[in-house]
Amino acid sequence: LKKGDRILLVDGVSVSFDGFKALNNLSFSINYGELRCIIGANGAGKSTMMDVVTGKTKPHTGHVIFGEAVDLLEMDEPSIAEIGIGRKFQKPTVFQNNTVFENLELAMKDDKRFFKTLFSKLNGEQRDKIEETMKLIGLQELSSQEAGILSHGQKQWLEIGMLIMQEPKLLLVDEPVAGMTPQEVENTAEILTNLAKDNAVVVVEHDMEFIRSIAKKVTVLHEGSVLAEGNMDAIQNNEDVRKVYLGE
Ligand code: ADP
Ligand code: MG
Repeated sequence: LKKGDRILLVDGVSVSFDGFKALNNLSFSINYGELRCIIGANGAGKSTMMDVVTGKTKPHTGHVIFGEAVDLLEMDEPSIAEIGIGRKFQKPTVFQNNTVFENLELAMKDDKRFFKTLFSKLNGEQRDKIEETMKLIGLQELSSQEAGILSHGQKQWLEIGMLIMQEPKLLLVDEPVAGMTPQEVENTAEILTNLAKDNAVVVVEHDMEFIRSIAKKVTVLHEGSVLAEGNMDAIQNNEDVRKVYLGE
């Protein structure tokens, strides 16, 4: 994959729950090297969209294609994670009693470690990968700090780091800045921007300032379909968006 290649295609996807259409002919695509924000009111279908991409929910109709031709609808959740699609949920789940370094070590992609325990020795390359990841998430000074005493923001970054250790190509991140201080929000914008350079990152978020600071392209979901797509200025001036969100 190189920058600008399509990494994800969601095409005509519909999901119903007891006749209610959570996703209604949803179509969009994401390119490698892109940082995309997905916004939309509660119930718009954002989480369901992530469930479909990660294999947790199978749609009734449509196609979901990873890279050039990998049909994600034919794959189960573990296989989808294995080919490089990572998801971060809203609540951070780190190993409280292990250090920052150990958390990253434990998260390392399985096939890189023969015995995945804290007592097996890391090789130089593995150590470098952990160091590099700590730098990216801004926790290199806290390498031997126990994760349980990190701040909320630091825990979120550590969890992003743990996802990076899985070597994903596409990362789905659900509301990463909820509950963060303004400074933490700024750091998170920087982390995700750097991360997207060698990946594709899809962020679902409500914080409009944050979205403005990171996203080149924003997709607005409404009732399970794409209502509008474009940069923030285009979105804010979009007639359909104004009708739905501002009642104009
Ligand atoms: P968002 O993440 O944008 O807030 P969701 O994708 O969680 O929206 O939900 C979209 C709609 O689908 C909502 O109306 C929600 O109530 C409904 N929904 C989601 N999951 C289920 C489910 N498992 N069973 C029934 N309805 C669901
Ligand atoms: Mg949601």
